[in-house]
Amino acid sequence: MTETPHKLTENIAQVQQRIAAACQQSQRNPQSVQLLAVSKTFSAQHIAAAVAAGQTAFGENYIQEALDKMQALKKQGIANITWHCIGSVQSRKTKAVAEHFDWLHSLDRLNTAERLSRQRPEHLPPLQVCIQVNMDGGDNKSGLDPDSVLAFARHISTLPNLQLRGLMSIPEPYEDPNQTLAIHQRTRTLFNTIGTQLNLPHWDTLSMGMSADLELAIAAGSTMVRVGSSIFGQRPAKSVSP
Ligand SMILES: *Cc1c(COP(=O)(O)O)cnc(C)c1O
Repeated sequence: MTETPHKLTENIAQVQQRIAAACQQSQRNPQSVQLLAVSKTFSAQHIAAAVAAGQTAFGENYIQEALDKMQALKKQGIANITWHCIGSVQSRKTKAVAEHFDWLHSLDRLNTAERLSRQRPEHLPPLQVCIQVNMDGGDNKSGLDPDSVLAFARHISTLPNLQLRGLMSIPEPYEDPNQTLAIHQRTRTLFNTIGTQLNLPHWDTLSMGMSADLELAIAAGSTMVRVGSSIFGQRPAKSVSP
């Protein structure tokens, strides 16, 4: 482990304090922002230590890596975890996502959505999904063009085994925090517009903000921040393939 269990507990408390302070700054209820711990590249032992510190929601990007960790944790009797897939999902991985995850934040293809709905096992609740929007047109990330999101959301909302919860976005890394804030605010506005237009029963999740920009995201209305390095430490240079 790069971080000791003690340090992990401290880091989680510190991130919770950042969330609380940001909520206070914007006069929001601190309960209105959920912390998703992004554990990609970190071991099942790191996750177990975070669970011991009270963290229950975990985000993973790479499906096979996530399945291995899920199995290891189950063997240790650790079961009360909510698993969020936050990485892009290739067609051959939809079945694993449908069978093993509770949430998917990065939905941006109809074909993927239809497969997930078809492959979601009957004994599980619907897969909770957010649509990923590429709000600032960054070249190197997934996500729908903002103009396509409304029609896409309308279609997704008809799929029986998916429950559409909201939007996810990852702004480019800007030097100027005002620019990051502006992107988050545009995502919030789109979120509100779709909520009003479609009047969906569970449209309540705005997944925005990471270690570096969670305060800005909360100021713009984020309801779920996805935090990796501020909890688990710096990730090694990417070595795991999707
Ligand atoms: C890795 C990752 C995160 C966490 O990023 P940090 O900067 O380490 O907090 C959040 N969201 C997504 C989609 C990621 O891939």
